[in-house]
Amino acid sequence: YAAKARQCGSLIYHAQLDAGSQESLSLLTELRRAVEDDELRLFLQPKIDLQKGRVVGAEALVRWQHPQRGLVPPMQFIPFAEQTGFIRMLSAWVLAGAARFARQALDAGLALRLSVNLSTRDLMDQDLPAKIEAMLAPLQVPPASLCLEITESAIMDDPERALSTLEHLHAMGFKLSIDDFGTGYSSLAYLKRLPVDELKIDKSFVMAMERDLDDARIVRSTIELAHNLGLSVVAEGLETIKAWAMLARLGCDEGQGYYICKPMPMEQFIAWAQSWQPPDTSAVMAESLMA
Ligand code: C2E
Ligand code: MG
Ligand code: MG
Ligand code: MG
Repeated sequence: YAAKARQCGSLIYHAQLDAGSQESLSLLTELRRAVEDDELRLFLQPKIDLQKGRVVGAEALVRWQHPQRGLVPPMQFIPFAEQTGFIRMLSAWVLAGAARFARQALDAGLALRLSVNLSTRDLMDQDLPAKIEAMLAPLQVPPASLCLEITESAIMDDPERALSTLEHLHAMGFKLSIDDFGTGYSSLAYLKRLPVDELKIDKSFVMAMERDLDDARIVRSTIELAHNLGLSVVAEGLETIKAWAMLARLGCDEGQGYYICKPMPMEQFIAWAQSWQPPDTSAVMAESLMA
């Protein structure tokens, strides 16, 4: 996490390098207050079936509407939340919001699958599966309406314990996805054992594939690998119509990215989904897209 957070050069993050510092303590206090004062916001980014053009789900992405700092992106407080253990409270908040939204969408006639990001600390929590089930039951939201996204590194921190939680979650009917696939350290041996349903190709490969043949080949091989293992595959970082056409032609199941839509406040999502029209990629399809 440190490397990831350092990339964004966050002032907030640097505060916690000195774990006992005054600043770090005050950030923790501030995060607690943020939850109490209702300053966290759920944004949703659509996931589209690239073959049929339909909206099939959304990823829940948290932001912090800070009274002084404005809208704070997740990379400026998620790594800190992970280090301090605050992430469990945050994950519970996100899961509850996503579940409520899945209910709302069902009531509006939209069957959506809500993807939620989980961290290592969540996977170490043996009670997590029961907690999620208890959250969904009163809403009558089927478990398959939730997809839990986990990065390879979160799994590899303690593979055996992660595997046990994931097996439990899978047996309860939740969908599981490997996020940022291709950037972590998991081995194919683990991938084979994990009860996952979906691979999410990291956006770095997808965003580069139009200009870099190696990235294009990685994307193509990952789609094949996923399908050969019986998994569904999602491309994140879909930024152009050409990327859409390439991915669709390579058989990629779903896409998510700025070309379709940036993450939007949850309240706007249903109206957005109801007015969504898939692009016409036929002109792009005609070109030769990959060697
Ligand atoms: P992620 O789970 O890989 O989420 C995808 C990130 O890529 C999001 O950034 C999204 O806005 C961004 N993205 C999507 N499409 C495009 C595109 O076409 N181009 C570009 N340049 N970016 C795109 P965001 O919302 O800033 O979140 C960053 C990361 O923060 C997430 O990466 C995830 O690791 C973490 N995160 C966000 N919300 C939560 C949460 O509720 N819990 C946990 N544990 N982590 C979260
Ligand atoms: Mg994700
Ligand atoms: Mg990702
Ligand atoms: Mg990412």
